[in-house]
Amino acid sequence: MTESKPEIELKVLGTRGSMPGEGGIFSRYGGSTSCYLVKIGKEEIYLDAGSGIADAKPANDANITLLFTHMHIDHLVGLPFFRALTEKNRRINIYGAPRAGLTPAEGIEKLMSPPFWPAKIGDYPAQTEIHTLPTEGEFTFPIGKVNIRMIEGQHPNGSTIFRLDYSDKSLVYATDFEHNDESSEKLIAFAQNCDLLMYDGQYTDEEYTKYKGYGHSTPSVGISIAKKCGAKSLLLVHHAPWRTDKELDSIETDLQAEYGEWISLAKIGERRFL
Ligand SMILES: [Zn+2]
Ligand SMILES: [Zn+2]
Repeated sequence: MTESKPEIELKVLGTRGSMPGEGGIFSRYGGSTSCYLVKIGKEEIYLDAGSGIADAKPANDANITLLFTHMHIDHLVGLPFFRALTEKNRRINIYGAPRAGLTPAEGIEKLMSPPFWPAKIGDYPAQTEIHTLPTEGEFTFPIGKVNIRMIEGQHPNGSTIFRLDYSDKSLVYATDFEHNDESSEKLIAFAQNCDLLMYDGQYTDEEYTKYKGYGHSTPSVGISIAKKCGAKSLLLVHHAPWRTDKELDSIETDLQAEYGEWISLAKIGERRFL
């Protein structure tokens, strides 16, 4: 009997951009900041460690990897609360590119050390290894049987775009990404024919005119990029901190009515399988 290959499972743990929100108006899309779990067999690959990572319950036998797009605090603030760090005999591999002159190890130490936090990452029971990724060109490395590819996006202090390929399935995570002629062209080439494109849809078109240069994009540009790269589905992420459930619902309904149900907005706790 041949063993069936595990599929890619995506679990949304945190969708919010910039800062967490709380209360009934944020209940369905969630108030926690960026964190997504990609599960493939025993591999648990966490994309960013925003406040949403505090809800993660890693399996006992999981191989844990954290991929940081960048070190902005909404992507890092949950790390001190990551349950796996408190577990003895746990090994955690962390990857990220240098940002504003700091390696990921230095960036993490800056957040996780007094007076900002009482314990350094090395003080936690788990064994962690922090790997530095390049910011130039395209780079590829394996995590188990998953092929990870990365390029640099467009964002203040930089942000990595990751592509995860496993078997014949692929997912691209392009958060904290601002479109321009050059960055959009790079992303379109990088994300060719992916099954799922996760794209920064923080601003409406109207808001974007005020926030140009802040490092985020819009659903309409996401749709245009997704069509050009042939993505099978588009998941809009990094919701503006002020955007309520009701507003997000109305954005999603309008987009689906116009373009179809291959487009959706990330909701806390949702799972999808590729
Ligand atoms: Zn962010
Ligand atoms: Zn950012």
